[in-house]
Amino acid sequence: MAAVFLVTLYEYSPLFYISVVSLCFVVTAAMVLGWFGFDVPVILRSSDETESIQPTPEKQMVQVTNPFALELVSGPASVTDGVSLRSCCLEPCVLNCFWGCEVNALQQLLLAHQHSLRLSTPEHFQEALHLGYYHCQSIHIGGEEREEHHSQLPADQGITDFGPLPRECYPLVAVLTLEEPEARDKYNIVASVTVIHVPDDKYRLSARVLFQYLLTSQGNMYELKPLFMSADSGGLFGPPESESEQAASASEPTEEGSREEQSSVPEDEDWSERMSRDCVVCQNAAVNRVLLPCRHACVCDSCVSHFQHCPICRAFVLESFSL
Ligand SMILES: [Zn+2]
Ligand SMILES: [Zn+2]
Repeated sequence: MAAVFLVTLYEYSPLFYISVVSLCFVVTAAMVLGWFGFDVPVILRSSDETESIQPTPEKQMVQVTNPFALELVSGPASVTDGVSLRSCCLEPCVLNCFWGCEVNALQQLLLAHQHSLRLSTPEHFQEALHLGYYHCQSIHIGGEEREEHHSQLPADQGITDFGPLPRECYPLVAVLTLEEPEARDKYNIVASVTVIHVPDDKYRLSARVLFQYLLTSQGNMYELKPLFMSADSGGLFGPPESESEQAASASEPTEEGSREEQSSVPEDEDWSERMSRDCVVCQNAAVNRVLLPCRHACVCDSCVSHFQHCPICRAFVLESFSL
């Protein structure tokens, strides 16, 4: 029957016959390839296939205590007049202010901590920098109280700026280490390194913290980064301190890849108060998920699985962890 039809068709128009046979071949080949799982163009796929949302992987976090807190005191700051720093540490500490610290020397120091040396004392840091700085000032800090400290370059050094851009040194690197040897065994985090920009005549950008790193006794390094929460709290957050809203997420691959750590600064804050916030999606449950890498804390456990993009900033969600 089909043969008779094809013969009739060929006699009628050979060109039309060739096109019909070719079309049949293409459709059959597409169906066979589809069965065997080859990637068939979307137009040939059945339309009721819906794309399933992959749940974002959960990051395993361990809460650790950060004994260090250091911030810039707002107000005038310059290379000639110095800067004021406010500390709030849990234990007696030593604050080393390295003025004019070479970028390379600091990078080498941070690498050395992660690979061979374990830097935990002020002397370790002074040695590891190999005199790659203009001046070092050591300040002793008592534990458990807010203190303000002023640090500046001695006037007799005659340094008023750190040269034209691009620069090879940071104006100020403030290193906090624990003073008592027993305290160093008590905490995972053994040092805090804060890189601070201080304005001078050549570069007037206002004073600010550029980076803040925490070093652990296991040789890991984490960068402290802000954690974002919605602002309609009606004052639940308390004073807007930069440290109290920061959480460290692993910024470097760690040696023990499975064990990621999260550091939250144990300032005088009540986490249960934060928990009472509403999830921005269901408005019904407490916010207890932080999305990575944008670090927005805005959804609850049950809503996080429905999103591949952050509801606040639309950033792609790679991972999340619970608060
Ligand atoms: Zn929710
Ligand atoms: Zn976001």
